[in-house]
Amino acid sequence: MSIETAAQAAYIVSALLFILALAGLSRHETAKSGNTFGMAGMAVALVATIALAIDRGITSTGLGLLAAAMVIGALIGLQRARSVEMTGMPELIAILHSFVGLAAVLVGWNGYLLVEHALNGPEAQLLDAQGTLGIHHAEVFIGVFIGAVTFTGSIVAYLKLSARISSSPLVLPGKNLINIGALLAFAVLTVRFVISPAMWMLVAVTIIALLLGWHLVASIGGGDMPVVVSMLNSYSGWAAAASGFLLENDLLIIVGALVGSSGAYLSYIMCKAMNRSFVSVIAGGFGIEAPSGEDKDYGDHREINAEGVAELLRNANSVIITPGYGMAVAQAQYGVAELTRKLRDAGVEVRFGIHPVAGRLPGHMNVLLAEAKVPYDIVMEMDEVNDDFSDTSVVLVIGANDTVNPAAAEEPSSPIAGMPVLHVWEAENVIVFKRSMASGYAGVQNPLFFKENSAMLFGDAKDRVEDILRAL
Ligand code: NDP
Repeated sequence: MSIETAAQAAYIVSALLFILALAGLSRHETAKSGNTFGMAGMAVALVATIALAIDRGITSTGLGLLAAAMVIGALIGLQRARSVEMTGMPELIAILHSFVGLAAVLVGWNGYLLVEHALNGPEAQLLDAQGTLGIHHAEVFIGVFIGAVTFTGSIVAYLKLSARISSSPLVLPGKNLINIGALLAFAVLTVRFVISPAMWMLVAVTIIALLLGWHLVASIGGGDMPVVVSMLNSYSGWAAAASGFLLENDLLIIVGALVGSSGAYLSYIMCKAMNRSFVSVIAGGFGIEAPSGEDKDYGDHREINAEGVAELLRNANSVIITPGYGMAVAQAQYGVAELTRKLRDAGVEVRFGIHPVAGRLPGHMNVLLAEAKVPYDIVMEMDEVNDDFSDTSVVLVIGANDTVNPAAAEEPSSPIAGMPVLHVWEAENVIVFKRSMASGYAGVQNPLFFKENSAMLFGDAKDRVEDILRAL
């Protein structure tokens, strides 16, 4: 068997491993094995690719560069994965997407320059006679476009998620026209480029796509960022697939398509969860026209201390805990798990209500709770508990804000109007753990804090949970 055939066989094995990885990652119980499949798939792919490169006569300089790139990349990857905090995960993912985008741009440009170079030779004439040159040019153009949009879009997402720039939306006059204009220009240029390619067109499409990526994500407000992150995930997959076509690498096409379609599906699920239109998300201008949250006077809030909460919990029949980003910041999940055990031992029914976008990335809360060994069967999705709040004695809102905001359900003019939220306010008592009266990620006031059955427990969520444990 030639190396070429062996490598193709290895690619199929690796593609299957990636599919198993995705299947595994879709459930808590199998997530770890999913990760293992993914790592195995990547290892097989790397070995096959290197073997293929050697077989095709890579120079020793090329091999040296490949080894250096792999060692440097692996070291940076290991270091970042070890040091990243759970709360920093979305930023990390965003910046990694930007690398995929940049790689696609470079591969596209390289593909163009290589063929341009060959155009003087007989190889190009052969390609042209076969009619494959036009396809090649289309691949270059589309790959560069998707890659450049992903590159700058992901950088803006990174800057917003890490609070290096404001998360409020940029509203340029005629922003939808700008986006449509950019897409039209891309379509027209693609046709022209396929017919008679010229360097200036590739330069133009690169610039247009870089600006479009920047504009698309800059115009999106904080509350909609989760959808943006998964959209960029999807774009990075398509960018990789486009590179796969250019490099004639089947595995890259398969993996790109897997990432692209799973990212698109995740975006669709999140759009549904947040009541946003999928089509307008792809078009890049959604949820922005709504007026920004004006400061309305909701009256006074009530405060409670840890002993008071312990007293309420002691007398409760049923408790629902709705965690949010603040639980992740405070690393309060271990205390929360301990509190859950204590209450369950005392015969109190305890469940968790998880909003689909609680925290800063999909599944954020589930990961933290699993890490603290909270049993999976009491961790419910929003839809599973939303009708039960009215029969609940105490709700503990631990570092969540936007995801429990009644304004989404009650105030049509709110920027988050229509987004499904956890109906915590229907419970007998609601305790809100946070450090101040500040608003959440979407920057919207929360009338929950001023309801008669709500009380604020101020301070770091971890410290407050420990205070309650002591008082119990
Ligand atoms: P929010 O960001 O709305 O609120 C978190 C709250 O936690 C804040 O009000 C903050 O108040 C409090 N908090 C922060 N640190 C602590 C601490 N140490 N102890 C106690 N409280 C703390 O979080 P939610 O989870 O409710 O909502 C998620 C938001 O993030 C949504 O707007 C969502 O759209 C967005 N988002 C979600 C993504 C996803 O994929 N899930 C990705 C990107 C954005 P204070 O400062 O007063 O303590």
